[in-house]
Amino acid sequence: MFIGHIGAAFAAKRFAPRTSLGTLVFATGFLDLIWPIFLLVGLEHVRIAPGNTRVTPFDFYDYPISHSLLAVVGWSVAVGLGYFAARRYRRGAWIVGLGVLSHWILDWVVHRPDLPLWPGGSGRYGLGLWNSLPITLIVESAVFVIGLWMYLSETRAKDRVGAWGLISLIAFLILTWMGAMFGPLPPSANALAWSGLALWLLPPWAAWADRHRVSRSQSAGN
Ligand SMILES: [Zn+2]
Repeated sequence: MFIGHIGAAFAAKRFAPRTSLGTLVFATGFLDLIWPIFLLVGLEHVRIAPGNTRVTPFDFYDYPISHSLLAVVGWSVAVGLGYFAARRYRRGAWIVGLGVLSHWILDWVVHRPDLPLWPGGSGRYGLGLWNSLPITLIVESAVFVIGLWMYLSETRAKDRVGAWGLISLIAFLILTWMGAMFGPLPPSANALAWSGLALWLLPPWAAWADRHRVSRSQSAGN
């Protein structure tokens, strides 16, 4: 899943209005932010296998540190506690931690059974929505649009950057998503890992737009 994770970050703003959208994007995308690093250092592996599912040409056959459920629970606690230590915002810390966990759940919906429960476990899980392109497009767009709608009803732009920063982010996300689905295959697993590092652009981009927006409830005086 790609823009669905961003949709979850947008939605999370409703539950933790004082947490930056950048932090929420970091949380819901966290597993895919660390995944290319584990690929590049050789601790995890992916294979380019066109036809693996209708949507993704990648065979995620070895990613226990970034994507096994037990490890993900650990990442969720660590990122949530790290956020609490930095910001002392308890509600935000819960939402950030749950945001990290939400990634596994959304991945579980779309991936074919390739997600392990713990490192070394032999079972693999996934509902396999990626076997259908139309259902993937509908479900992932729906998660994104509902999340975005929640974010827009929670915040409003206080200047041009608040509007155009957000619009440019959304345009970039949709183009990247379309490129990943309909564009050419990366030439190698290594190239995929390097291009995956581009995801690190998203948290600062979202934080930048979010700083130029205000909470609607706060600006209304309650
Ligand atoms: Zn993932």
